[in-house]
Amino acid sequence: MNARVGAAGKTRVCPHCKSTILESASVCPGCNHHLRFDRSANLDSRVQPAVSALRVEGAFKNPEGAEAWEYSVVVTIRNDRGEEVARKVVGVGALEAHESRTVTLSVDVVKPRGR
Ligand SMILES: [Zn+2]
Repeated sequence: MNARVGAAGKTRVCPHCKSTILESASVCPGCNHHLRFDRSANLDSRVQPAVSALRVEGAFKNPEGAEAWEYSVVVTIRNDRGEEVARKVVGVGALEAHESRTVTLSVDVVKPRGR
């Protein structure tokens, strides 16, 4: 294993929205702010653009005439063995009659250059 392989998956905190993001990201996927590199200015050049690996979208609606509904949006990540490695409540809220919400889940993958 070389140093480059070991660095894959390193994270940092976005200074704008405080999300945990990849250290290699030049744009925060959470708030879309461009991020400046203070100590690894050449990182940009060896990271390829992100490719969308997965995108799922769905909508849900409070049926006509019903009372307010409450909802929770939860995202889980599992590894090859089916073990949960992350679970997060992304958002909660209420739906009044006739209201709807659309949820979009997207996964981007990045392959560092020079392997
Ligand atoms: Zn951010």
